[in-house]
Amino acid sequence: MASASVKVAVRVRPFNSREISRDAKCVIQMQGKTTCITNPKMTKDAAKNFTFDYSYWSHTSEEDPHFASQWQVYKDIGEEMLLHAFEGYNVCIFAYGQTGAGKSYTMMGRQETGQQGIIPQLCEDLFARIAQSRAHDLSYSVEMALPDLYCVRQFVLQNPTCFSFDITEEMNLWPDSQQNNIKCIEGKTSKFGLLAFPLHLSPRTVAATNMNETSSRSHAVFTIVFTQRRHDELTDLDTEKVSKISLVDLAGSERADSSGAKGMRLKEGANINKSLTTLGKVISALAELQNNKKKKSDFIPYRDSVLTWLLKENLGGNSRTAMIAALSPADISYEETLSTLRYADRTK
Ligand code: ADP
Repeated sequence: MASASVKVAVRVRPFNSREISRDAKCVIQMQGKTTCITNPKMTKDAAKNFTFDYSYWSHTSEEDPHFASQWQVYKDIGEEMLLHAFEGYNVCIFAYGQTGAGKSYTMMGRQETGQQGIIPQLCEDLFARIAQSRAHDLSYSVEMALPDLYCVRQFVLQNPTCFSFDITEEMNLWPDSQQNNIKCIEGKTSKFGLLAFPLHLSPRTVAATNMNETSSRSHAVFTIVFTQRRHDELTDLDTEKVSKISLVDLAGSERADSSGAKGMRLKEGANINKSLTTLGKVISALAELQNNKKKKSDFIPYRDSVLTWLLKENLGGNSRTAMIAALSPADISYEETLSTLRYADRTK
C-alpha cells in the first residue's frame, strides 16, 4: 500500500556563493529514484546510495530529467497531500535539512522572483478548488494559523490583513483575539473570488552561528484547518469532514556542536536536535505500523518533544505525511548532507 507510508523526496539546491568561492565540488549524483553521495576524502567504497520517492535536482538545466521547478515539487508532493486533505485525511509536509540547504525555498519560495514554494501554491490551489466546486450541498471553511515553536515570531505575517480575496458578503476575515497572527477565513462554495495570495512573510528572526551568515534554529509550522460541510436537504442535517494540513519548515538540522553556538543558543540547539530526532523516530514508528511491521499497541514517542506532541493528530492514524530533505551539493557539507540522507532514509 504505497500511499499509506511516508512520501520522501530529496532536493539538491544549486551551489551558493560561499561554496563557489571555496571552489566546492559536487558530491551528489542522481539516477532514477536513487541519490548517490560520495565521500570526498575517500577513494575506495566512497559512494553511498539511497532510494526515495523523488530525487530532485535544481542546479542543472531544465532539460535534466531530475531538474525540478517549484511547480513540479508542488505537483508531485503538495497537490497529492492536498487531495488527501479533500478526502478527509490530516496531512503534514516537512522540510528537513541543515541551515541554508533550501527548506524555506521549498516551503515558502522566493518572493522577489515569484518562485513560490509549497505553502503559497497549496493555498492557491486549495482556494481555486473550492471556487471551482459545483456541489450545491457543500460549503467550506478554511482557518489558517501560524504558531511558532521555540522562538516566537519566526514567521510573522507582515501585513496579515493583506490576504487579498475578492471579499464577498459571505466571507469573513478576522484576526483571532488571542494571537494576532492567526487569521480565520470563512466562505461558501463558489463565493470565493479570484485569489491572490501575497503571503508576505518577514525573514525569520535569526541568530548568527558559524554555519552560515544566518541560521534559522526554530521550527515554523503553518497550519490550515479545512472543513467540508455537507448539508442534507432531506434531513436538514450537516455532516463535517475536517482535515488539518500542517506545513512545517523545520529548524536547521546541523548538530549543536558544529554550529558554534554557546549558552542559551547551545541549549536551544540541543532541544531542537532532540525534537528532530523524536520526529524521525515517530515517523519511522508510524511507517512501520502502517507497513504492519509494528503492533498498534507499540509505543509511539509523541510526548518526547513539543513538536511531535503538537503534530500528534497530523502524524498518526488518519493522516498522510511527506518529507522533503533539502541538500547542499557541496563537498564541504558532506557530513551534514550524509546525515540528512540517513534521516530521510529512516523515515521511509
Ligand atoms: P534553509 O531554509 O534550509 O535555511 P533556504 O531555503 O533559505 O535554506 O536556502 C538558502 C539559499 O539557497 C536561498 O538563497 C535560496 O533562495 C537558495 N535556494 C535553496 N534551494 C534552492 C533551489 N532549489 N533552487 C534555487 N535556489 C535555492
